[in-house]
Amino acid sequence: MLCLNEKLEGKVLTQTTELIDSNINLKEKIQELHYSEAQLKEREANLKSIFNASVDGIITTDIHGIIVSVNPAITDMFGYEKEELVGESFFKLTENPQYKRNNAHKKKYPKTPIPKMIGKIREIEGFRKDGTSIPIDLSVAQLTLAGHSFFTSILRDVSSRKEQEQLDKIHLDELAHVTRLGLMGQMASGIAHELNQPLAAIASYTEACLNFMKAEQMDMVKIRDTCIKVHQQSLRAGQIIHGMRDFVKYKSVRRETMEVNKLIHDSVNLCTSDLKLNAINLCLDLRPEPLFVHVDNIQIEQVIINLIKNSIDALHKIPWITPRQLSIQTKLNEQHNVEIRIKDNGLGINDKEKANILTPFFTTKPDGMGMGLSISHSIIKAHDGTMHFHSKIGKGTTFYFTLPQQREFYGHE
Ligand code: ADP
Repeated sequence: MLCLNEKLEGKVLTQTTELIDSNINLKEKIQELHYSEAQLKEREANLKSIFNASVDGIITTDIHGIIVSVNPAITDMFGYEKEELVGESFFKLTENPQYKRNNAHKKKYPKTPIPKMIGKIREIEGFRKDGTSIPIDLSVAQLTLAGHSFFTSILRDVSSRKEQEQLDKIHLDELAHVTRLGLMGQMASGIAHELNQPLAAIASYTEACLNFMKAEQMDMVKIRDTCIKVHQQSLRAGQIIHGMRDFVKYKSVRRETMEVNKLIHDSVNLCTSDLKLNAINLCLDLRPEPLFVHVDNIQIEQVIINLIKNSIDALHKIPWITPRQLSIQTKLNEQHNVEIRIKDNGLGINDKEKANILTPFFTTKPDGMGMGLSISHSIIKAHDGTMHFHSKIGKGTTFYFTLPQQREFYGHE
């Protein structure tokens, strides 16, 4: 009997100890839970303060593009109250009000493209409540809450960056125009010489015509043929003047689709006389299939003419007995960008000059401005291209620049 009691007591003791242990464990767990809850609250408060204080707009949408929450930056940016946005489509902020008015009969909003934007920064146009537009950088992340997918969109108002870019473009345009006038000034005598040829030809053809008319039996065929020649020469003169006038004209930033080889021909036309006067052999190695670029054609011609002019100057210094070669090549490079290469066999550029030639006002010429290469570099950069060169003393120099290809105009590569 005593033995049974002892056994029971022992069991009760072990169970009590176990109970006490699990009680302690439970208390610890509860404490941990309290702690995690406090941490969660702290984190939530932290996130909320970031959400509220962020200068970037933050919008959460569901998979259908319906707005679930917006932060105060969004209401400031777009001029809507929070209540006017929550429950509405994300497109309320990106649809042009003009389009909305004209298409009032159509389905309210298209399907959301938000999932397609994950992981990329896209530049989009947003519209304020008053209808004015805002340029926006949009980035999107996906999150899952209680088994449901949501999207968090970060919207950054980039108006001031855009304004600055626009100002930079205007400055570049003005600077390009001023330097273009300088470049044209340097080439004026060559162009005048070039113009002299058709004018002299017109004078002699018309004189011949007058003589034909004096004859008793007028040879109408001869007169007609000579008139045709006069017409051709006057067109040639007109072309030169037209090219020159276009080149010095001030144009605001305007880009259009251009065929690269046409840009080369138009540029070379303005340099023909300088090339002839300096006995330079020009070799054009142009890609036969057309390549299209979206550019300000006058600015790109300015770059090409500047590089040709520099090559002419470099070739001018080599002895007459060495044949003076200038080659211009157009091609599609490995990155599928259009590449234009201008190569001469001039004296080349030494290492000290190499480091400086792209710096504004650096020149080694007594009458040089030192602006040609720096402005050319800026023009190419503004066209999302790159410009480089390599040069060897005694061997010559190659300048090459790229421009993004406009593929829509060219089906196959
Ligand atoms: P500028 O022609 O008025 O000197 P640029 O900016 O066009 O101004 O050129 C700067 C300098 O770069 C030139 O003075 C010349 O020393 C050097 N340079 C440019 N192109 C060539 C070239 N093809 N060969 C040798 N030197 C060159």
